[in-house]
Amino acid sequence: MTTAIYPGSFDPITLGHLNIIKRAVQVFDRVVVCVMVNSGKYTPLFTIQERVELIRRVVERFPNVAVDCSHDLLAEYAKKYEKPVVVKGLRAITDFESEFQMALINKKLNEELETLFMAASEKYTYLSSTIVKELGKYGADLSEFIPREILDEVQTRTRQRS
Ligand code: ADP
Repeated sequence: MTTAIYPGSFDPITLGHLNIIKRAVQVFDRVVVCVMVNSGKYTPLFTIQERVELIRRVVERFPNVAVDCSHDLLAEYAKKYEKPVVVKGLRAITDFESEFQMALINKKLNEELETLFMAASEKYTYLSSTIVKELGKYGADLSEFIPREILDEVQTRTRQRS
């Protein structure tokens, strides 16, 4: 069984993330979406547990997608699975440098761990959780960016942050 781990902050999950998940399920037997705790990057909009629950609601219809979270390094977390592959979405050349560095570090820490990059759909190359949070603060309609199952919650929470 081939397992893909799709790690990220997912604060919150966007249609860009969902697009990568849907495409990864076509390639792998199972996809594990893992909310990673990113120490001190910013004050999150949703707690780790909330993010896990939001993602669960969005991927409920996919039987081969699981949702998890981890406080560990990805290289350590990946040891839970047999020969997993890390899947990352690349939106633009600007994503490349940090993602490439992460892939090399993960390989250094865990020799068995391969990273595969999936090109973002051109429809979503502009989309990030950060931009969604920014737009939401001003009350913008987020329905083109956020999965419908969680739209109300994201809309409400981002507005509270303004
Ligand atoms: P963000 O940059 O939106 O805060 P995350 O840290 O949650 O994203 O990203 C997790 C993974 O999803 C990363 O590999 C990132 O490059 C990818 N990703 C984020 N947004 C998109 C998108 N719109 N299309 C494709 N991949 C994306």
